[in-house]
Amino acid sequence: MEEWMISADITLRDIYRARGRIAPIVRRTPLILSPWLTEQAGYPVYFKLENLQETGSFKIRGAANKLSGLPEEARRRGVITVSSGNHGRALAYVARRFGVRAVVCLSEAVPGNKREGIRRLGGEVVVRGRTYDEAAEHALLLQEELGLEMVYPFDDPLVIAGQGTIGLELLEELPELQAAVVPLSGGGLLGGIALALKSADPRIRVIGVSMERGPAMVESLRAGRVVDIVEEPTLADALAGGISPNRHTFDLVSRTIDETVLVSEEEIAEAMAFALEKHHLVVEGGGAVGIAALLSGKLRGLGGPAAVVVSGGNVDLPTLLKIADECRRE
Ligand SMILES: *Cc1c(COP(=O)(O)O)cnc(C)c1O
Repeated sequence: MEEWMISADITLRDIYRARGRIAPIVRRTPLILSPWLTEQAGYPVYFKLENLQETGSFKIRGAANKLSGLPEEARRRGVITVSSGNHGRALAYVARRFGVRAVVCLSEAVPGNKREGIRRLGGEVVVRGRTYDEAAEHALLLQEELGLEMVYPFDDPLVIAGQGTIGLELLEELPELQAAVVPLSGGGLLGGIALALKSADPRIRVIGVSMERGPAMVESLRAGRVVDIVEEPTLADALAGGISPNRHTFDLVSRTIDETVLVSEEEIAEAMAFALEKHHLVVEGGGAVGIAALLSGKLRGLGGPAAVVVSGGNVDLPTLLKIADECRRE
């Protein structure tokens, strides 16, 4: 690979291609200023609201790009995936639009509202194993048995390019952008956005935020290779799970990320309550980690304008009510 290239597998061109393909299916989401975080930070802080995206998360961007690019023969057979919930929902939604069969493997840790959301869209839900990695093993077996096409939630160039379309929207609306704060799990979201932003200007900083409980990509970055982690229960369930085997995102994220931040369960809960109270936004734990990084003061000296990707809103009502109630008492 030439040294000046960010990635050999995927380039800015692929992200522009993705944008054309997915335009009929996805929403262009709002970018709003957070006056409270702006005051705290001392520079403008914006939210990119993917919690208001169709299916409640950005995952539909990657799923739509992947299915649009799938050969007719593979579409006839159908697709299968493993998911922490939001990717499965996005895939089921897009598959239904294309008239394609979709099987979604989930672990027992995936919240009930996410299972139900997939079923309502006609996705065939298979619950197997206690962790994402166990569900992933089962998905591979089923894929062979049923002859389906695997659509990975992050480790796929078409999925990464789809998520990267968020970066294009950020640049168009905020050309003076200095930093992006992005929730980080498998790294399809961060990798795609970073590729778009750094192709425009390599000086734009990209910060990845994960939860303290089982941050597979952050541990892998620290180790300099893909490592396995122990999956733990977390409010940021959308970020749970391992990243191996990995062909694309570890390398892409290693090359593009400037900094990582880990946030605690309490900081995630406070960020969710903050989004609800101040912005009237329903944000799930995994979607709120970027807000948590700023609100907690853990991310300092960033410089702005900065955009925080609010990546999803699929939180179940009892969880949200409990968090709102606990934060009100403090
Ligand atoms: C999947 C997901 C992420 C992380 O995306 P990766 O591409 O796996 O890093 C972040 N937030 C939400 C809400 C998600 O569903």
